[in-house]
Amino acid sequence: MIQVQDIHKSFGKLKVIKGVSFDVNKGEVVCIIGPSGSGKSTILRCINGLETYQRGAILIEGAKVDPADRSITSIRTQVSMVFQRFNLFPHRTALENVMEGPVFVKKVSRTEARDEAAELLDKVGLGDKLGAYPGKLSGGQQQRVAIARALAMNPKAILFDEPTSALDPELVGEVLAVMRDVAAEGMTMVVVTHEMEFARAVADRVLFLEGGAIVEQGSPQEVLRNPQHPRTQDFLHRVI
Ligand code: ADP
Ligand code: MG
Repeated sequence: MIQVQDIHKSFGKLKVIKGVSFDVNKGEVVCIIGPSGSGKSTILRCINGLETYQRGAILIEGAKVDPADRSITSIRTQVSMVFQRFNLFPHRTALENVMEGPVFVKKVSRTEARDEAAELLDKVGLGDKLGAYPGKLSGGQQQRVAIARALAMNPKAILFDEPTSALDPELVGEVLAVMRDVAAEGMTMVVVTHEMEFARAVADRVLFLEGGAIVEQGSPQEVLRNPQHPRTQDFLHRVI
């Protein structure tokens, strides 16, 4: 579904991605872990066409993601992103936030988009909050709206960039539960997270990124329980 092939990326003289390659198969959940500044967000942004890169290639179902290409919006409709800070439109209700993409990007009729949005909000446990504005919702509820919004585009994959890092601890669980449901339904997902328990339970594969390179990758069992590389061991000692 997603092929990341030998990506190199610099910001000016600063090399932030130094030859990263991995594949994500349809229906797989890949978790990316690693210290702050290691390039996790940059990789997701490259996959979604939000960021250019200097070398390598990224393919979504065999089609190259090229940020210079005007048809890039088609990649963004195929791959949704959920951000650390929910990025909802503050002056639109939960329902309107979820309808927005299908109506304006996919040209779905408002009636159809509204029905679908209501169904998705119900699915993430917000069936009683359709008319609520983001400011009246908790962080966990806002992030669940953001997940419903991502699903509304009927994407081929969803990229999550630390979706629970901005939440109060008591709200993390409700968002992870929704993400587990989405994974269980077979969605292809790339998840940058510090929630090791989630990675252990849900990931098919875990990548440990440091200094813009993949230091180690494997099953959650291999990488999280029995890491081979001293840098992975050191990182896990610090976060767990
Ligand atoms: P992570 O998500 O793992 O914390 P990022 O991908 O955000 O890491 O950042 C990787 C490196 O790239 C960091 O050194 C960061 O400062 C740098 N960086 C990220 N975005 C930019 C940018 N727009 N301009 C310059 N440097 C950037
Ligand atoms: Mg980041």
